[in-house]
Amino acid sequence: MTATTGLNLRIYPDPVLFRRAENQEIDESFPPRIRRMFQVMYDHAGIGLAGPQVGWSARIFVVNLSGDPDRPQDELVFVNPRIVSRQGSTTQEEGCLSLPEIRADVTRPDVVQITAQNLRGEIFELSAFDMLARCIQHEYDHLDGILFITLLSLTTRLGLRRDLKELERKFKDAKRAG
Ligand code: ZN
Repeated sequence: MTATTGLNLRIYPDPVLFRRAENQEIDESFPPRIRRMFQVMYDHAGIGLAGPQVGWSARIFVVNLSGDPDRPQDELVFVNPRIVSRQGSTTQEEGCLSLPEIRADVTRPDVVQITAQNLRGEIFELSAFDMLARCIQHEYDHLDGILFITLLSLTTRLGLRRDLKELERKFKDAKRAG
């Protein structure tokens, strides 16, 4: 067993995705776990990933808006984050690595202010807008067990019902197969 054992992408409707994650005390297991999260994110062509998405029920998420593993300078790590303000409103299409193939327009505030710890435990504050603000809110929601599909209008969600049922069926089959 290493610090990253079992940290693999979790797909809807895995129960860990609906659980509220807990704040964490940073220890030596964090750097390898965070590396693993970035690796899973890049492997699936994502730009953000939250702890629960790899089965780690921790209030942690990572972001690289470029989605490019060759741009580590764009990597952001948020430990024990707190969104302190939200402003405005904007609608844009979103997807989620835990909801493969599903995309839908989501309306969210377009400016957020967030505080978090970095891997050294230092607290930083960041003002984000546009894509970064959207990504931060999407990942932050994961820490509260919220998937973007729950933010959609009823009609939009009804339109996705068949795709969600398919994911539920696959999850059940995979579980049965062990
Ligand atoms: Zn997501």
